[in-house]
Amino acid sequence: MSESGGDARVRVAIIGSGPAGSYAAGHLLRHSEPELHVDLYERLPTPWGLVRAGVAPDHPKIKSVTNLYERTAEHPRFRLFANVEFGRDVTLAELQERYHAIVYAVGTPTDRSMGIPGEELPGSYSATDFVGWYNGHPDFCDLEFDLSGERVVVVGAGNVALDVARMLVLTRDELAVTDIADHALDVLASSGVREVVVVARRGPVQAAFTNPELRELGELVDADVIVQAAEMGAGAAIEDPDAEPTARRNVEIMREYSTREPAGRRKRVELRFLLSPLEIRGEGRVESVLLARNVLESTADGSLRARATDERVELEAGSVFRAIGYRGTPLIDVPFDSDRGLIANDGGRVRRGEYVVGWAKRGPSGVIGTNKKDANDTINALLEDLAAGALLDPAPISDAALEEWIRERQPDLVDYQRWSAIDRHERGRGEPHGRPRIKLARLEELLGIRHGDG
Ligand code: NAP
Repeated sequence: MSESGGDARVRVAIIGSGPAGSYAAGHLLRHSEPELHVDLYERLPTPWGLVRAGVAPDHPKIKSVTNLYERTAEHPRFRLFANVEFGRDVTLAELQERYHAIVYAVGTPTDRSMGIPGEELPGSYSATDFVGWYNGHPDFCDLEFDLSGERVVVVGAGNVALDVARMLVLTRDELAVTDIADHALDVLASSGVREVVVVARRGPVQAAFTNPELRELGELVDADVIVQAAEMGAGAAIEDPDAEPTARRNVEIMREYSTREPAGRRKRVELRFLLSPLEIRGEGRVESVLLARNVLESTADGSLRARATDERVELEAGSVFRAIGYRGTPLIDVPFDSDRGLIANDGGRVRRGEYVVGWAKRGPSGVIGTNKKDANDTINALLEDLAAGALLDPAPISDAALEEWIRERQPDLVDYQRWSAIDRHERGRGEPHGRPRIKLARLEELLGIRHGDG
């Protein structure tokens, strides 16, 4: 090895510091023969992706997974290069000149649209925007949500729909102890929302909720949960012994909800089934949602699909949130499978020396922990390729020269030390208020924190 340590190093650049990228870094760093050096690139000045900007503020336990990522970040062969955007500050060709492998961990940042008339009306929102906004993501902090209407319709039967529904009915006291962005705290705590109707296009058995999230809905301080008994029969028979355990348990939980007498709380969250939005209606802004009543029909692959009948249901609503899943966006110079909305890959391999992990690899599914095995599988493929001499062959470069290059590209680089200063600063702001942190949401505020601050 040269004096600078440049020659014998195998360098891997990971693009994106969310769970998938962080697990990939951890798995690479456990590999010590030959030594792998990992540089984790992140577009924002803050790491951890959806753990910071996606997980609901009232789920602090889920966020504690960052303790694990912090241990990875303290590894001597790890560096964070945040506030660096792939394709803008650095190109693929430049990374290929400096790294043996590049691992994309960029997630699926946009949302699917419903493709129905009225979707663009004021008051029709995407859950992706809303989640980014209440979590203080710099891209979304200037959005405005008009929550003056009493009823909100949330389309979709996944955990994001439940997060949105819950956030709309939590009390000021419940919100005020979280790390919710301050701009969102005031708007949500003083909103006019009294009723949230979550609409699923298929039946209770097919809902994509997970059990703890569904159970939480029945424990809200200020809202009753409502399920119509008549809609509980919809979908496949839960008595089917092949039904997934999560689906079986979901149905048990919802059956219990359907027998509950409302306790007269100020607000309500209602779960409705077999309804598909056809049109969002209103003069100049959302006033109602027209839905088709569906039936389920079998498809060739054995799954059940919703088919609209002639029956219509119109729900008055002041706003509509679509929470029907995320979608990937292409990266410059990286092959993209536009049918699936993912980086084109075969088991995590993209092209020689290029790999993909997480939602950008398999689509937006699973909980945070799902990304660990997913990332490990891709990294194992990378390690096989390394052993077979099938990675890239960059010119040797020292740690210092590499860092000098990246600082030329982005003079306002946020390394791990600088992120730690931001982290300390945010935690310090939160402490007197009994909050885990008070986030800085704007780029200029985040970048105003320097090494040694906090
Ligand atoms: P999801 O779990 O895939 O759910 C999407 C929902 O939208 C499904 O019910 C789907 O119904 C429905 N949908 C799709 N297209 C539709 C359309 N055109 N019209 C009406 N409904 C439509 O997605 P997600 O809620 O965005 O969550 C993404 C992932 O993050 C999931 O794996 C989720 O578990 C995870 N997550 C976890 C947590 C947590 O652990 N607390 C929190 C948030 C998110 P069909 O089934 O009929 O397609």
